[in-house]
Formats: sequence, structure tokens, C-alpha cells
Amino acid sequence: IKVAAHAQGAEGIKIAVRAGVDSVEHAFHIDDESIELMKNKGTSVVPTMIAMKRIIDRPDEVPSWMIERAITHWEAHQKSIEKAAAAGVNIVMGTDSGTPFNGFGNESAVEMDMMVEFGHMTPQQVLKSATVNAAKMMGINDNYGAIEVGQYADFIVIRENPINNMKVLQQEQKQIFQHGHAVIR
Ligand SMILES: [Zn+2]
Repeated sequence: IKVAAHAQGAEGIKIAVRAGVDSVEHAFHIDDESIELMKNKGTSVVPTMIAMKRIIDRPDEVPSWMIERAITHWEAHQKSIEKAAAAGVNIVMGTDSGTPFNGFGNESAVEMDMMVEFGHMTPQQVLKSATVNAAKMMGINDNYGAIEVGQYADFIVIRENPINNMKVLQQEQKQIFQHGHAVIR
């Protein structure tokens, strides 16, 4: 069974990692020791940049203590995700989708842009986080996560290279292929 912990703060995160969870969602305020521990244990991190940004962007709807807390998290988080990615921690893209503030829609493309802009990850790191790294975390990387012989051909076709501009993933114009067949929308 795969286990994910929604954990914030270095102590809580370390307890979860030592206990053997597969992934830590949010992972705000990770320190160097957490990063080392995650690397050794093979724990994935799902940074959920959008979860904080959506709170910060709604000062009229969200209580002020939540905004203040989100801003503190936000500032620390940008640095620690850059550090974790550079250290080689398996970063996986995810949005904490389904929480009241980021809705139930698919905001993966927005999250990926934020990982570049605020997490200072390279576009290559971000594309891997949404494909091969995610498949690895789920233990399905023999069949999913890359365009290779022997894998299910699940991919999208877009007009521009997201390496140059991650925002192109947010365009409506895209072709989706699932198991090698175009998905009609
Ligand atoms: Zn959460």
C-alpha cells in the first residue's frame, strides 16, 4: 500500500519519513536533515505550491491568520523546494486538489508553471516531476511515465515546447493520447 502524509514542519516531516511514508505532500519548512533523510529513504515530495498561493490570493475570503501563515510557508517553501530538487529528492507534481481553496479542477499545468517560477526548478525537473517521477513514486514506472517501447502511450501534444515556456501547458489547444489513441473531447 502506498502511503502519503500531508505534513508541514521539519519535525513532523521527519517523523513521517522515518515511519516509511512514500510521499510527503506540502513539506513546508523542510530542513537539510529532512532532505538527507528523504534521499536515503527514497521519499518523494509533492510541493503543492498552488495550495498556498490560492490562499494568499484570497484575502477577502480567507481569515487573516491563515493568510499570514501561508505567506510564512510560501517564503520558506520556495527556497526549500529548490534545495530539495537540487539535492536529488524525488519531486512529484501534485496540487492538493479537492481542498476548498484550489477547487476540484485540474490545476496541474498551473502548478507546473509555479514550480518553475517560484520553486526555481528547471523545466526539465518539472516535466519529470509530472511524468517519470510520479510513475516511480506509484511503482508503475515499468508501464507509465515515459515514451518508450513497452510503455502505454499516454501523452499530450502541444504547439510549443514547455521547456521554453511552461505556460503553454495551460493552453486549451492540446491533443491528448491515452494508450496510443487520441482522446476525443
Ligand atoms: Zn493537504
